[in-house]
Amino acid sequence: MQMIARVKGTQDFIDNQLFYFIKNEFRAHASLYHFQPIKTPIIEHVELFKRTLGSYTDVVSKEMFLISSGNKEDFLCLRPEGTAPTMRAFLEHQPATPWKVYSFGPMFRYERPQKGRYRQFHQINLEVIGSSSISQDALMITLLDRFFHERLGINSYALQINFLGSYEDRTAYTMILKEFVDGLTGICETCAVRKDKNILRIFDCKNAGCQKLYTTAPTMIEHLSEASQKEWQRLQDELFLLSITFSVNPRLVRGLDYYNKTVFEFVSDQLGAQNAFCGGGRYDRLANELGSKQEFPSLGAAIGIERLMLILEQQMDKLRLPQPKPLYVIMSLSAEQNPLALLLADSLHAAKLTTDVLLDGDSLKSMMRQANKMGAAYALILGDEEQQNKSVLAKNMMTGAQEQVNQVDLPSYLQR
Ligand code: AMP
Repeated sequence: MQMIARVKGTQDFIDNQLFYFIKNEFRAHASLYHFQPIKTPIIEHVELFKRTLGSYTDVVSKEMFLISSGNKEDFLCLRPEGTAPTMRAFLEHQPATPWKVYSFGPMFRYERPQKGRYRQFHQINLEVIGSSSISQDALMITLLDRFFHERLGINSYALQINFLGSYEDRTAYTMILKEFVDGLTGICETCAVRKDKNILRIFDCKNAGCQKLYTTAPTMIEHLSEASQKEWQRLQDELFLLSITFSVNPRLVRGLDYYNKTVFEFVSDQLGAQNAFCGGGRYDRLANELGSKQEFPSLGAAIGIERLMLILEQQMDKLRLPQPKPLYVIMSLSAEQNPLALLLADSLHAAKLTTDVLLDGDSLKSMMRQANKMGAAYALILGDEEQQNKSVLAKNMMTGAQEQVNQVDLPSYLQR
């Protein structure tokens, strides 16, 4: 019979050390900045994303995993991103603002898999809902920059920022850009569609010919209103003040429709083609798009955990990974000793000593080899003799020294 393989574009995490390291470091970091953890469901109504991300974005038009819920009217989907669900949760629960929250979890997008791009991937999402101050953007970017640089010790990345202005600025600029693109000949088919549906996305085109044509395109930051110009300046001044290194990328638009004002991306040349490991921005009207009468100006960011792992795997020696606790391995030489082995293991677990039990009754030699592979600090051998004397043969795997220890004294002997 043929074996069943994992679904294309998904990954099994067999070694989770790095994954949990990132999660734990982020938890500590976020709490320092007074962000609270939340969880939202993996399934949501499709409508949530259609309304917020924009029907013509790649995510909605071709990357959604749909689930038929039994009710033909109501299609559910596996969430492709975390911001719209967080805003939905905010509007349902109405917590006090500014609501500063973060979450971890899998996201699903039907993309062509490649290095750093999967159909199920994991993000850390953080959002600040209900704050219009542009200084909040500077604070969030600082939180992220300090996380990557100070906590994780990553040096080789660049922070790119752009300012999309207000929705009015964006609409006005869209007209100017359209006029420019209408005057071009030779844009690709994708760009021809984007020109009408979602023109800012032309800047994301991978076609070198298109990219060349767009080098002379008018930029958003040249067409900001006076008020937006002031905010943009303020953001840059605050980032300078906080010694955050960044570059302005006037062609950074990000894929989703809901952004206004600040957009940013952290990119690394250690990642290959999919070089962004974190992205975010402001979305002042998202709440209204979800039906809220009140305005809740907000901003958020998402960190791609797999891409962060790809970077960290290249500098494992620099990471302060938690040291594993010493491991004690109880060896039951035959099935006769298994009940005793279970009791002893229970007493070691109660004393918070990391303990495993070998219960398959191999030869002592092969069990010792196994304990060695497991990195055991001590082998604790239980045979007929030990069972009768109520003792254990404790062998220090580093020094090779061994000693008979009374079973009742074992936890305190190992804790010494
Ligand atoms: P986005 O929600 O598209 O702004 O993505 C935020 C971050 O999630 C990106 O910077 C990536 O690090 C990560 N990401 C997005 N799509 C994928 C994917 N298909 N596979 C792995 N990581 C992804």
